[in-house]
Amino acid sequence: MKVHNVVILGGGPAGLTSAIYTARALLEPVVIEGIIPGGQIINATNVENFPGFPDGISGFELIERFHKQAERFGVKFIRDNAVEVDFSISPFKVITSDGSEFYSRTVIVATGAFPKRLSVPGEDELLGRGVSTCATCDGALYRDGEVAVIGGGNSAIEDALFLTRFVRKCYLIHRRDELRATKILQEHAFNNEKINLIWNTVVKEIKDPKKGQVEGLILRDTKTNEEKFLKVDGVFVAIGHQPNTAIFKGQLVLDEFGYIKTFNNSTATSVKGVFACGDVIDRRYRQLATAVGSGAQAGMDAEQFLKT
Ligand code: NAP
Repeated sequence: MKVHNVVILGGGPAGLTSAIYTARALLEPVVIEGIIPGGQIINATNVENFPGFPDGISGFELIERFHKQAERFGVKFIRDNAVEVDFSISPFKVITSDGSEFYSRTVIVATGAFPKRLSVPGEDELLGRGVSTCATCDGALYRDGEVAVIGGGNSAIEDALFLTRFVRKCYLIHRRDELRATKILQEHAFNNEKINLIWNTVVKEIKDPKKGQVEGLILRDTKTNEEKFLKVDGVFVAIGHQPNTAIFKGQLVLDEFGYIKTFNNSTATSVKGVFACGDVIDRRYRQLATAVGSGAQAGMDAEQFLKT
């Protein structure tokens, strides 16, 4: 039975950064990168807030560069999903969807979180072509345009406020008649003349997948059932995130929202030798730059653990 030093779960920015760090520490990490690797950032059309790229870079190209850099240091990649883990035994065990078993002295969990989706017609087809789940990444593409943000929580309001830096008009579409966001954010939204609130309304359909771009939304008033078309150039879905932690339930301590809990101001989880980084531990920032920083910390924490 081969026992690895480090197995990393997740091939997004956090996982790949952990891989680069542990590979450069000569720990020969294995990354179980998922079936579609790269994480959420691959959907970002133009990343303008990651330092070092003054002209911006597509999320896809950026992640390709991360990957190449990891390959250069000999990182081994497994194109599959981890479907089961056993952190109660030593070495730890990870099983992938094809039944392969991996044993390792340390595991770094970097499985990320996924933005919840509306699940309406047009959404999948137009993701990255006018439908976005990241205002910080894609907002600047809508200079002087008209966009809609869906949701009524802090993320939706922050997205709407951020978007007003660029757009002419931002519709904030919420399914109820009361926002969930904190009062101060609500006030900022109410006082911003570029933000138009549309209450008691859900998106029924996003138009027009046939044209390959967002042309507008079919909205339904939840009180009257009345439908109407709203012309917009882009739509930002901000209805919350879900961490990818289903396989860690009962193995690691999770918080009330399902994110992995870390301890001692480090990436250490409730199990010694298992570390976690990136969006799977981060309900608040969820940025590429913060995921990279957290991935570096996990790599260093795993290296330190193996030394002791
Ligand atoms: P959230 O608080 O869970 O809010 C999600 C919003 O989306 C809610 O208004 C919800 O409506 C709506 N929604 C959910 N499913 C929907 C659907 N299928 N169709 C239409 N609307 C739907 O999520 P979040 O705003 O991403 O915030 C997550 C956590 O991060 C929160 O604890 C938040 O406070 C925190 N956060 C903090 C900051 C900050 O401190 N600056 C910034 C961002 C986020 P209902 O209200 O009707 O349920």
